[in-house]
Amino acid sequence: MMDGEKLRIKLVTDCDKFATEFEDEIKLFRHKLTLDQDGAPFEVKVDFDEASCQVSVTVNCSELAKNCYQLSQKIEETSHKVAKIAQIKRIAKGAVYKFLSDAFCEREPYGSLTGIRPTKLYHEFVAKGKDVDAQMRALYVSEDKLSLIKSIVKAQEPVYPSERKDVDLFVNIPICTSRCAYCSFISAELFRVKDMVPRYAQLLCEEIADAKSLIDDFGYRLRCVYVGGGTPTSLPYEQFSDVMKALSSFGAKEFTVEAGRPDTITAPLLDVMDKTGVTRISVNPQTFCQETLDAIGRKHTVSDFYDKFAMARKYSFDVNVDLIAMLPGETPDVFAHSVDCALDLRPENLTVHTLALKKGSALKLGNYDNTSESDAAKMVDYARSACTGQGYLPYYMYRQKYMSGNLENVGYCLPSKQCVYNVDIMEETTSIIACGAGGISKFVDREAGRVERCADPKGLDVYLARGEDVWRKRREFFEKCERERGVVRD
Ligand code: SF4
Repeated sequence: MMDGEKLRIKLVTDCDKFATEFEDEIKLFRHKLTLDQDGAPFEVKVDFDEASCQVSVTVNCSELAKNCYQLSQKIEETSHKVAKIAQIKRIAKGAVYKFLSDAFCEREPYGSLTGIRPTKLYHEFVAKGKDVDAQMRALYVSEDKLSLIKSIVKAQEPVYPSERKDVDLFVNIPICTSRCAYCSFISAELFRVKDMVPRYAQLLCEEIADAKSLIDDFGYRLRCVYVGGGTPTSLPYEQFSDVMKALSSFGAKEFTVEAGRPDTITAPLLDVMDKTGVTRISVNPQTFCQETLDAIGRKHTVSDFYDKFAMARKYSFDVNVDLIAMLPGETPDVFAHSVDCALDLRPENLTVHTLALKKGSALKLGNYDNTSESDAAKMVDYARSACTGQGYLPYYMYRQKYMSGNLENVGYCLPSKQCVYNVDIMEETTSIIACGAGGISKFVDREAGRVERCADPKGLDVYLARGEDVWRKRREFFEKCERERGVVRD
């Protein structure tokens, strides 16, 4: 293999059920390796001996200098099949990671962890009474990231506990005024769906009404309402106002609207949100560099952001501000400037994303390369020290595939300003009733360690065509899940 050239490998395994997870480990080293059907064999063999609870893993690739790694490890005895498989999988993934990290003399910040919720795993280890630090180290998580995870878990303490009957309401408005170059969401540009919008808003209000009766019928208790998308404030005033009025009847203590794009925020929309009980909104600059904003297709300027932030400050909303590290052309200094500008405004929440290059985004299609691990690390490290230095607490996190430097997204908050919904959705502690095209309802049964999902149709056109079948299906889903939980409804 020449310098700068990627080694082409083909995964060969006798354990097909973990093949996707092994590929995820390989992709952590995507700057060195590429998966290719004609590549050199990369063999992973997994053997489990039921009697001794011993897992044996052998990883082999003759093209690498250190070409073989063997591991034999005992799992904890359990009669629970799912828990047994989870342990075997973790060990096998760890072996693949260890082989590759030794072969390339590289350590990834989250080691062999490829899931999106490191803090959820941490909470699970705590609940099982395990030596959590030792468990995380066994997954090769770095000391620095372990300390971040622990700070987040600590900051979640006031809002983490939720009761069996608690639910959140999520409302999806998958519409934006234009498409950002990094976006891979199913979100339609307003001009393409304008004719469908009035009917969509009407149907959405009907679905919200059904969600309310579902909550009453099942004796659920609402924790928060979250309106996301897309950009909900892309809706024309009349439809936006109808949806907000439908939601105000829930009287939620926490009611977030992801206004997001400064170009969509207007005084009349802020007035409606204020009157209908919204408590938290987002106003997202993403960067304070105008050149970058132009390059990523955001149809607003830095000064628009400042104007809309000042407008929002005339109300009593908590405000969240989003930034993205590793946007095209940005150096660590440019990003640090954005962090400083955002912190100068003292928003209640500041969310620092790391760019993830998703399939279907314009950046990915344009072959933009975001693999500079050292720049990405400098950026997120700067954000963390600047935020914590100014009294902010990291309080939730998640990871995505193809993130720069295999890092993370972190939400920071001023003390006592944790957004409950963000913690609920990331830690999967609370069921979610979702409304709107692309919304995904979740039933969380913590006692059984089970999370079930039920998706509304994705496109506006399909959603409109299905009509009330959408919420009939959702009701059946909750009925089935409650039955399986063994709770008989009165
Ligand atoms: S505002 Fe969000 S959902 Fe809309 S195009 Fe940009 S990234 Fe996608």
